[in-house]
Amino acid sequence: MAESTLKGSCLCGGVAYEMSPPFIFFHHCHCNRCQKSSGSAFAANILVKAAQFQWIRGEELVGHWELPAAQYYCTGWCTVCGSKLPWESRNKKGLLVPVGTLDDDPGSQPEKNIYWASRAPWYANPADLPTFDEGR
Ligand SMILES: [Zn+2]
Ligand SMILES: [Zn+2]
Repeated sequence: MAESTLKGSCLCGGVAYEMSPPFIFFHHCHCNRCQKSSGSAFAANILVKAAQFQWIRGEELVGHWELPAAQYYCTGWCTVCGSKLPWESRNKKGLLVPVGTLDDDPGSQPEKNIYWASRAPWYANPADLPTFDEGR
């Protein structure tokens, strides 16, 4: 891929992928589905065209689940370590990439919060919390 290729992987390293900008979007999604799926207050997601993404290792380890009630919503994960992983949209046009799985700096920052009205009641602006360079 191009020199701007970004690499990503799961926690155990069994699965790795690469993708390249530009991104269709880069946002924080606060919907209830993303709270469940991520186990956190929101999901940081990038969408890229399928042509800008490829698995480079361990594709056979990638789990995939389509939420029956949803038009598009899927989840992807490593079946060894459980890390979230990219998943392909049902129309095969794009891949949703959980940004925390990137090993490289995506070179840009999220553009927006979506489903803000559904945000977790315990969500706090990270900038408002006491901060430590490492675990306390
Ligand atoms: Zn893994
Ligand atoms: Zn969401």
